[in-house]
Amino acid sequence: MSDQQYASQIEDFMAYAVSRNPHEEEFLSAVREVAETLIPFIEENPKYKGKKLLERMIEPERVIMFRVPWVDDKGEIQVNRGYRVQFNSAIGPYKGGLRFHSTVNLSVLKFLGFEQTFKNALTTLPMGGGKGGSDFSVRGKSDAEIMRFCQSFMQELFRHIGSDVDVPAGDIGVGGRELGYLFGMYKKLKNEFTGVLTGKGLSWGGSLIRPEATGYGVVYFAEAALNRMGKSIRGLRIAVSGFGNVSWGVVKKVNDLGGKVVTLSGPDGYIYDPEGVSGEKVDFMLRLRASNRDEIKPYAERFGVEYFSGKKPWEQKVDLAIPCAIQNEMNADDAQQLVDNNVIGVVEAANMPLTNEAVEIIQQARKLYVPGKAANAGGVAVSGLEMTQNAMRISWTAAEVDEKLRWIMNNIHDNTVKFGLLPGGYVDYKKGANIAGFIKVADAMLAQGIV
Ligand code: GLU
Repeated sequence: MSDQQYASQIEDFMAYAVSRNPHEEEFLSAVREVAETLIPFIEENPKYKGKKLLERMIEPERVIMFRVPWVDDKGEIQVNRGYRVQFNSAIGPYKGGLRFHSTVNLSVLKFLGFEQTFKNALTTLPMGGGKGGSDFSVRGKSDAEIMRFCQSFMQELFRHIGSDVDVPAGDIGVGGRELGYLFGMYKKLKNEFTGVLTGKGLSWGGSLIRPEATGYGVVYFAEAALNRMGKSIRGLRIAVSGFGNVSWGVVKKVNDLGGKVVTLSGPDGYIYDPEGVSGEKVDFMLRLRASNRDEIKPYAERFGVEYFSGKKPWEQKVDLAIPCAIQNEMNADDAQQLVDNNVIGVVEAANMPLTNEAVEIIQQARKLYVPGKAANAGGVAVSGLEMTQNAMRISWTAAEVDEKLRWIMNNIHDNTVKFGLLPGGYVDYKKGANIAGFIKVADAMLAQGIV
């Protein structure tokens, strides 16, 4: 088939997806990104052709939406909306984080659950895809309010999850504190202590290295991709966005490997620290996160570095960009600016931080581009290792978990190169990740029949 025929097939498929999911912009953009690489692949492989695999895959197996009422510190009743999207269980129990953020809606969670299905398949571990959360924001809330919210959320969620059914974890706005409150309520309602959540505290079933895992994994992947190009993290100046859990792990591992993170950001703007974020500045990130203020400005005040209000870090001249904050945080103009500044590439640590147009600009310029579903899979991979440790009722050492994480990331790298290598040597990691993830899920779906 010609490129033109594929293009019209892709547009037909997208028209179908739009008609079934109108107004779900984030979800549709994730579907388009996958359809563009998979439709030609499916056409060329008779095993997958004519099986309506994509139509089946973009339909979540189940969507649960529920009321989350809670009482704030003033005694007023608040009402939020809770969700769990159980997207695909072909290769294992649904698995994916919970996001508590004001931008959460069904479209965002469907996009995240869809991406998670491919990501989890890439880890080589037996985990299906799911995602959940609420439009509740921890910003400005007291600890007691966060606890009451989490308890109310779990009072409904508990009946839909289980260690062999669906295993949620953290995501934006859901860290160790929130997972603790969620787990406490689950345990009380079910009267059982099982590995139903991951990202748990160390004394109650958590895994060493889980807090660092997403960021460490991103940097292991980046190092593997750079090594392939005859480069390495050592000596690189890196722009990072966000200042939460993922950025923190990235900063720590970049420092270990001899690179320098020169920016961090929040919803308020970004800081530029030419000396690099290291030493006590890394610990300060944790304090900023625990303050529930969601601002990066205090970093600039504390360490006397430049602060750019309302701006994004992509305007700085750096060697590598690692967006760690949220979807669509880098648009076409930002990507063009990075290309003009001769960046080596962009490695996604957040889930889909680049718009589809931004990805195209980076790839057209033949710069390194690694999609989040491959680069940030280390978080959920160590969640998978936490599930294994819980099931075996043992704990591995930090070195053992880190070793397995590094092996998994290198394996994902090699697998994505296998399917993404283009004539001429450029690696289309997006194509590689989509095809490698698809094959695993599609084979399982085909084997299990029309269910
Ligand atoms: N929220 C993380 C992700 O986007 C981790 C999910 C998990 O550990 O289940 O992959």
